[in-house]
Amino acid sequence: MKKNILVLVVVVFVMSACAAPAAADINQTEVDLPQAETVSVLEESTGLVTDESEVSDPVVTEETGSGEETHQATIAALSDTELSTSELEGITFMREEEKLARDVYIQLADLWNMNIFSNISRSEDTHMEAVKTLIDLFGYEDPVQDNEVGIFTDQVLQDLHDELMVSGSISLADALLVGGAIEEIDILDLQKYLDQTSNSAVIEVYENLLRGSIKHLNSFVSNYERQTGETYQPQFLTQEEYQELISLSSGSN
Ligand code: MN
Ligand code: MN
Repeated sequence: MKKNILVLVVVVFVMSACAAPAAADINQTEVDLPQAETVSVLEESTGLVTDESEVSDPVVTEETGSGEETHQATIAALSDTELSTSELEGITFMREEEKLARDVYIQLADLWNMNIFSNISRSEDTHMEAVKTLIDLFGYEDPVQDNEVGIFTDQVLQDLHDELMVSGSISLADALLVGGAIEEIDILDLQKYLDQTSNSAVIEVYENLLRGSIKHLNSFVSNYERQTGETYQPQFLTQEEYQELISLSSGSN
């Protein structure tokens, strides 16, 4: 299972690195939203991403800061509302990657009847909405069409979803490993796209999503270790990256 997912993930990385900017039109980058409306959209988005999902190990729940800071960030974002091709690819891809997490957890919750999956699926739904506010803010086309569970516009994410659902159906331990895999992939993609953007609105959303993913990874790891009595081994992060993230989480407890 691990090998297949690894192959898919490599494909994910390669595809997202070379893909043309989806169906969106680069000429639409110049949006002319009224300032007040834009501010409220962003404040809404930051409210959404700082959700406190009721997962078993509450970690890294740093707040985004006061409304004042959010306002400053929004003003800065407004002065720079043109996204590059890679920034556009990033928000388009992350919108569906958050959907992949949500959809897999919804289905694993049904299969294994374990709260961790339903709790985290609700958190992923707010992550999806946070990326949607960016897509709307910059006037791009949303890759999520009718929002049906398990259906994706991006074929690479469709294949990854299908593969993960096969693995996650084998046993509860495998399902928890699928959760860990999704969070590791999410962390790596968010770090990659953070490196490619200087837009403060995008950075703010990605950093919130990243904090959520680290928290979720920690929850899947501790649940997996409780269930199996075995030590979780990172699936995509290096041992070093993994240890750093885990100690970062437990340090804030
Ligand atoms: Mn997420
Ligand atoms: Mn997550």
